[in-house]
Amino acid sequence: MHKIKRRNTQQRNIIYDIVASTNTHPTADWIYEQAKKQIPNISLGTVYRNLKVLVEEGKILEINDGKVSRFDANISPHHHFKCENCGSLYDIEEGELLYINKDIAQKKGYTVNNSFVVLYGICPKCNEHIS
Ligand SMILES: [Zn+2]
Ligand SMILES: [Zn+2]
Repeated sequence: MHKIKRRNTQQRNIIYDIVASTNTHPTADWIYEQAKKQIPNISLGTVYRNLKVLVEEGKILEINDGKVSRFDANISPHHHFKCENCGSLYDIEEGELLYINKDIAQKKGYTVNNSFVVLYGICPKCNEHIS
């Protein structure tokens, strides 16, 4: 019993480290590919389950970018920019944007504890190639 518990924790730590190792907001599939390098017999279901627990524990964020769930170890309040060309998801550390949301909500009587905004457009890298 104890052994199983320890193994689960170990797997979860490895999965957390993989999410924390990148700021590209990986998908479960990508995390699974990385996890296999360390735990060859791990299943995609196990990866999903561990990601879910990490989200529930507040250690990582789950961001739905419209098509797939992506995961983020940066749990400080921030926004995201989704490039419609290459599909990359970037962090926007824009404090002002956060306050705008809060102001608007407060005027309508809502108390905001958290906010997640996804901006859509073309990232600087893609802009370079297009122009
Ligand atoms: Zn792009
Ligand atoms: Zn992020």
